[in-house]
Amino acid sequence: MAPVDPHSYSDSTHPQVLHYSLSLFFHFPSTLINASALLTLSTSYCGSISLDTRSLIIHSVIDPISYYLIPFSLSPPDPIKGSLLSIALGGQSSFIVIYSTTAQSSALQWLSPPQTFNQTHPFVYTQCHPIHARSIFPSQDTPAFRIRYSARLNIPQELSAVMAACHVERRPPVAGEAKLLAGGFDLLWADEGRVVEEFTMEHPIAPYLFAFAVGEIAFGEVGPRTRVYAESVPSVLDAAAAEFAGTEDLIKQGEKLFGGYGWVRFDLLVLPPSFPYAGMENPMMVFLTPTVIKGDSTGAHVVAHELAHSWTGNLVTNKNNEHFWLNEVMSLMIFVTIVYPLFSRPLLLYL
Ligand SMILES: [Zn+2]
Repeated sequence: MAPVDPHSYSDSTHPQVLHYSLSLFFHFPSTLINASALLTLSTSYCGSISLDTRSLIIHSVIDPISYYLIPFSLSPPDPIKGSLLSIALGGQSSFIVIYSTTAQSSALQWLSPPQTFNQTHPFVYTQCHPIHARSIFPSQDTPAFRIRYSARLNIPQELSAVMAACHVERRPPVAGEAKLLAGGFDLLWADEGRVVEEFTMEHPIAPYLFAFAVGEIAFGEVGPRTRVYAESVPSVLDAAAAEFAGTEDLIKQGEKLFGGYGWVRFDLLVLPPSFPYAGMENPMMVFLTPTVIKGDSTGAHVVAHELAHSWTGNLVTNKNNEHFWLNEVMSLMIFVTIVYPLFSRPLLLYL
């Protein structure tokens, strides 16, 4: 056994999971996600592979070619790392995990309608930093192992989904495309009133940068590379668009200093007030608390910090979770160099 991270069960002697293909059925009445995940390895493997999980119910592990069951075990939970999912592979290079989230899945924040701006629809969002991605899908949840993924989110048709990824399409669900889901949710997949939103992330990312939100979401354009998304409340969208109108200037300043912006889009998602961080640097779509909208454009400072992570953290990452301070310190330095020429405030006010 050769651990790569004190906060992960990942083992450097095991093949790396290169790609995750996720099918996620959002069941708002029970605030649970019923899911399947096809994991593709860097090479075929004979032996036990270790994955991180937290508060997931693992229903089965399946060979995607023969559909035979693959033996697995789930350890009692460690208070920090969660439970070790050991899967006894017999030469497969990919396998499917059928699972459900639980009320304790720590990356998921479910909001009932009264907890939203419009108070008419529920909302759910993620916060995977630093080690909570494992509570959404079984993973090698360490910056040492970067991932690519595709995701199909099956949601009520009155809602919309966004991800820190490329949006592929919004379409009707197809019967049978999630036939392995447990608990009868394979049959509910194509029910009337459901819709599928598809996304893909082709850039390799650290798992803590996986992110989505589902709710009554709308957007406004604020720049050639930037939309601001928020709950569909005109006053919130208008205030956010005004607060972040200078985002393109920040991106250009960053490019002048550190090279081209590599993530194509730099969208912003303003979440309901319960979002516990000022901002989270999810790639392609920064997540923000509405409390940074002050009406005087100073919320741009939080956006600039998250933009700095586009270079330090999202492109170049600390080796593992033990060294995360490097990520923040380097981003703080880049943040100051981006905003200082634009705003000319005394340097100490940025720290
Ligand atoms: Zn930061």
